[in-house]
Amino acid sequence: MYRVPTRYRFLLFVTFSPLSISLAVAAGDNPGTRNPTVVCQALKSIDTAAINRDLKSGVATVDVAIYLGETDGKPHGYVASPDELVASFVRAREIFAKAGVQLKLLSVRRAIVPPSWLAVQANDVTGFPAPPETNTYVGFRSAGWKLTKEATNAFEGIIERHAQNHRTIYLLYLKQVRMAYYDRTVKDRPRIKSIPTGGLSLPAYLFETRIPRRIRGVITLCRQGGKGGRTIAHELGHKLMNVSHEHRKIGPQFEVRGKGGLMIYGRGTEIPSGKTGRWHKERLHLSPFIYRTKEDGTRQWNADYREGGHYYDPLYGDKVIRFGVMTRPKRPKRRRPSNE
Ligand SMILES: [Zn+2]
Repeated sequence: MYRVPTRYRFLLFVTFSPLSISLAVAAGDNPGTRNPTVVCQALKSIDTAAINRDLKSGVATVDVAIYLGETDGKPHGYVASPDELVASFVRAREIFAKAGVQLKLLSVRRAIVPPSWLAVQANDVTGFPAPPETNTYVGFRSAGWKLTKEATNAFEGIIERHAQNHRTIYLLYLKQVRMAYYDRTVKDRPRIKSIPTGGLSLPAYLFETRIPRRIRGVITLCRQGGKGGRTIAHELGHKLMNVSHEHRKIGPQFEVRGKGGLMIYGRGTEIPSGKTGRWHKERLHLSPFIYRTKEDGTRQWNADYREGGHYYDPLYGDKVIRFGVMTRPKRPKRRRPSNE
């Protein structure tokens, strides 16, 4: 379901939704202007206390808040089928429970927003394409991904202010979120392309500090349905383990399908540990989004990233895989225009 057509085989951490292609940006309102008329209200048919009743203190925990983006008079699909959303969340929770992390559902809220906020271009690629032999994670650093103004405006407008904003995961259900990336289909001529996504995790290994700190936990989702739980878990995996598509002997790639692993395309849910597991479980447990509740009710938070959260951030110590050409590529003397 989240297979990416082979012509997009170099894209990363994206799940593809052919259903979301047809929605165009609505004219008549300006996505660059903060709109004070955003209204958020709880989806009362979902009982978060009941969903969270099995949470245990002392266990690694991640707070997750959900927003359903909709426009006035057109409720999000999950408003009519809240059980489907709950089932997806519970499925994602089961996947992470096996790795020793519990997901707490803070809230499910409907966000009534201007139509243009539901269809946004997520990122700009402002850097330069690294040579193909470069280590993928080093290459990501040179690509310099950052949020577009329209995405920043929509995400900041929807996510309500809260003291723990920067350590909370936000699942934003929107209509269409497009992602730009370097396409290498034509050898030696990398080109920037933009495609719609089914889920986009906007992870630290790509954005580092180029995403506003308050909303760095944002994940967009543009699809609902039967496999929603695995999709949520996969996108959470990008954010919390801070890895691209990789599993055991499979090194990080834009698109790779296989069995077993949560972080590749397919149906797998495994979060492996140890060096042979590419340290996925260990990296998960080092995530700055994790806390433990102590007996007195206070929270013990994990340490934050030390260098903005790139793959080799010192936070991860030796819980990294070193491979390929590790040197940061130099900027070419004659820069190609970024959009050929
Ligand atoms: Zn992915």
